[in-house]
Amino acid sequence: KRSGGNQYRFHTMEMNAAFQRHVELEAYLRKALERGEFTLLYQPQVELDGERLIGVEALIRWNCAELGLISPAQFIPVAEQTGLIRSIGHWVLEEACREAKRWEACGGGHVEISVNVSAGQFMQPDFVSRVRSILSSTGLAPQRLCLEITESMVVHNLQATLTMLQELAELGIRIAMDDFGTGYSSLSVIKQLPISTIKIDRSFMGDLTKEDADRSIVPAIISMSTTLGKKVVAEGVETSEQLQLLKRMGCDTAQGYYFSRPLTASALIRYFQYGVEKLDTRTLREDASS
Ligand code: C2E
Ligand code: MG
Ligand code: MG
Ligand code: MG
Repeated sequence: KRSGGNQYRFHTMEMNAAFQRHVELEAYLRKALERGEFTLLYQPQVELDGERLIGVEALIRWNCAELGLISPAQFIPVAEQTGLIRSIGHWVLEEACREAKRWEACGGGHVEISVNVSAGQFMQPDFVSRVRSILSSTGLAPQRLCLEITESMVVHNLQATLTMLQELAELGIRIAMDDFGTGYSSLSVIKQLPISTIKIDRSFMGDLTKEDADRSIVPAIISMSTTLGKKVVAEGVETSEQLQLLKRMGCDTAQGYYFSRPLTASALIRYFQYGVEKLDTRTLREDASS
């Protein structure tokens, strides 16, 4: 009983610490937009047939004046819980579209921009009209925009999600299913949705080179996606061995540290301006660390 009591108290202390951290993050997060503390990095997506850069994923970074660099894995959940995700997500979408429009003048006009969308942002009644107005104010062609959604968004609200995805697809925007394989969406759900791309979660990449049953998950996702006429992107590719296996399995596109870490906007533009047709991974690696 005594140890039970201690455990309870320990648990409470842990919860208090987590709660305080949440309160602290929330307070600073509320000021982050007006203080201009967010930036976007862009991680290349490479077409495996020819190893050309065909797209980039926008990834948010928060450099908080008081707390330093906070990862999105930490603050996106807080933004979700507090509703701040709506204004942060709006900023991300606008910034990413504005930036992608600029690439037309420096050799990156063909590059697709992928933007992560959270559940709380997607579920706003005016989400589709916000997207439409950002496209018209930035002048970005809808065909160059891809929105990344997750399986849990679909599972929790299939009918509403389906309607919105259809409206977005009608505008010409592409939709990708992010982190695929970690959630619970069934084949029949995937088949119903107007999504063009499936991103295989990076947790499966480690299994790829093992002689083990998990190895068959990746080829299974690739063949399912291909059968359904969807493009496949492998996330988190770190080694040439993984890359060779993915190519052999018929994967279209890959993203990961093997090709490049997420780059600053200026490093990406410098890459476009070199005009290198075939991706030079060494150039990108140097850019990433500069
Ligand atoms: P995600 O959308 O699945 O993004 C991919 C994450 O994997 C990124 O982490 C990226 O830096 C990391 N990554 C890429 N290649 C590799 C690799 O080869 N190895 C390893 N170990 N990691 C790799 P990041 O930038 O920390 O973002 C984490 C998550 O936060 C994202 O996962 C996404 O769910 C969320 N996120 C990031 N930016 C935004 C945003 O602007 N809006 C929203 N709503 N969520 C965002
Ligand atoms: Mg993503
Ligand atoms: Mg992902
Ligand atoms: Mg993820």
